[in-house]
Amino acid sequence: MTERLGLIGLGIMGKPMGKNLLKAGFPLTVWNRTASRMEELVALGATGAASPKEVAENSDIIITMVSDSPDVQQVILGENGVIYSVRAGSVVVDMSTISPQVTREIAALLKEKNVDMLDAPVSGGEKGAMEGTLSIMVGGDAAVLERVRPVFNAMGKRIVHIGENGMGQVCKLANQIAVALNNLSMAEALVFAAKAGADVGKVLEAIQAGAAGSWALNNYAPKILRRDFSPGFMVSLQQKDLNLVMQAARDLNLALPGTALTYELQKALQAWGLEREGNFAVVKVIEKMAGVEVKAEGRRMKDEG
Ligand code: NAP
Repeated sequence: MTERLGLIGLGIMGKPMGKNLLKAGFPLTVWNRTASRMEELVALGATGAASPKEVAENSDIIITMVSDSPDVQQVILGENGVIYSVRAGSVVVDMSTISPQVTREIAALLKEKNVDMLDAPVSGGEKGAMEGTLSIMVGGDAAVLERVRPVFNAMGKRIVHIGENGMGQVCKLANQIAVALNNLSMAEALVFAAKAGADVGKVLEAIQAGAAGSWALNNYAPKILRRDFSPGFMVSLQQKDLNLVMQAARDLNLALPGTALTYELQKALQAWGLEREGNFAVVKVIEKMAGVEVKAEGRRMKDEG
């Protein structure tokens, strides 16, 4: 039997994920708070709904892809939320990046209605969402994951069961720690090379292939050299995620000094009104402290224009 799918949240990530679900042949009902964002998917064959509740009425598996913990609570538990019409035996799959603790609370409330939940946050960005190559980190019951796996296969390439509810989000937050610190280490390496007068393009070419090599160096450093700070993954979302990390770390009595540092450095970008730039714009904070700008041809003083 083909599962009827629902998708709530058609932003940068949700819309291309929805397109891939349609491409894979799933019947799809969608809802987005800003209704005009549903039009493209409706034109491709999805059914538009008037509320998250209406999505749940018409779906066996309901996916949410909204911004933050309060937003997931809103569409699932709030007025006209999923919980008011979801049937026993259905599955709610939250693919947003939110708090592991809030995830566990929502899962427990759904369980009272005999509804299973998976937390299934993703990595791979807009590109991965468009190409159907997301990494999907799953928390929840393994048998429920097997039921949902064909749906995940339409959107992602690597699907890993991490553990019980909340553990998908724990994995995603671990991912965000590594991403943020990779960006910072890249930024310091590039600014150091620029300040010392090296041709940063050549430095990049040399170090990409060695022990320093990273996704950030391959994908973001060339953009920095072109002074292209378009996202990718926005500073504002990165800060939302690092804030979730710091909250979870506080609950665990865990010190994460590197994460705390990069969180504070990215606050400068927010203060400068740059929170819609890509997270690798953290290089601008290091550049400001150094008085140089990273350019392909090497060192360039800020005041050289
Ligand atoms: P986005 O483009 O800002 O889209 C957010 C979506 O959530 C929009 O559809 C928005 O509706 C909806 N929304 C937000 N608050 C809501 C509320 N209270 N009630 C109802 N709908 C609400 O964000 P995105 O980039 O798609 O990110 C979605 C999630 O994926 C986030 O948790 C993010 O951290 C995660 N993620 C993003 C990336 C990335 O590269 N962008 C990568 C991995 C994971 P409106 O259209 O009405 O605003």
